[in-house]
This record gives sequence, structure tokens and C-alpha cells, in this order.
Amino acid sequence: MQGIVCWGTWLILFAEMDEQRRKYFQKKLQALAEDLRADIETGGEGTQTIQLDTSIGRLSRMDAMQSQQMALELRRRQQNQLLRVENALKRIEIGTFGGCARCGKAIAEDRLEVQPDAVVCIQCAEGS
Ligand SMILES: [Zn+2]
Repeated sequence: MQGIVCWGTWLILFAEMDEQRRKYFQKKLQALAEDLRADIETGGEGTQTIQLDTSIGRLSRMDAMQSQQMALELRRRQQNQLLRVENALKRIEIGTFGGCARCGKAIAEDRLEVQPDAVVCIQCAEGS
């Protein structure tokens, strides 16, 4: 009887910890999504304001084009990351967050800490 009580208490504790962990990563991901959205917005304005008018020399025009290219590339990467973050938030809602999409094992906590939008575990990410 004692054992059953302990087991039940442990399960409740475990569920609470899981809930806290879920909320923690949800907050983290939401903050990350906000940051990315803000960056994408300001980045978008930046790329639009570059105008190739004749008042700047040929070299600086090339510089401007290059930095515009880089800004576009950065924006593309941020948009991809935003998609991953949004997907991770969806996984939190449906309860599949933290599991590897390839092998199904749990993704290590420290990996999620660094990259909360990770979809696969470190073993699968490294391709081993
Ligand atoms: Zn895996």
C-alpha cells in the first residue's frame, strides 16, 4: 500500500515537472518568435530603403547590392527559423514537443536549452 502511494505521488510530481518544463519552453519559444518577427520586419524595411541612385559611386553601389543580398539571405534564414519555432510551439500544444522526429527518442534537455526549436535529437542531427 505504501508503495502505491509513493508511486502515485511520484507520478503527480513528474506530471507537474513536465508541465513546468512545457511552460518554460513555450515561453522561451514565444520570446524567440517575437524577436524573429521584429528582426524580419526591421530587416525588411532595410532592404527596401536601399536605392541604387546615381549619386553614389559604382563601388558603393556594388557594396549596397552586396549588403542587400546579405540582408535578404539573413531574412530568409530568420523566416526559416521562425517557421521552426512556430512548429515547435504547435508540438508543445499537441504534446509531442521534446521527442525526436526521426527516431522518436527524447531530445536531450541541454540541446533544447540551446536550440528549443530542434526537431531531431543530436544523434540524428549528426547523422549517426
Ligand atoms: Zn533521433
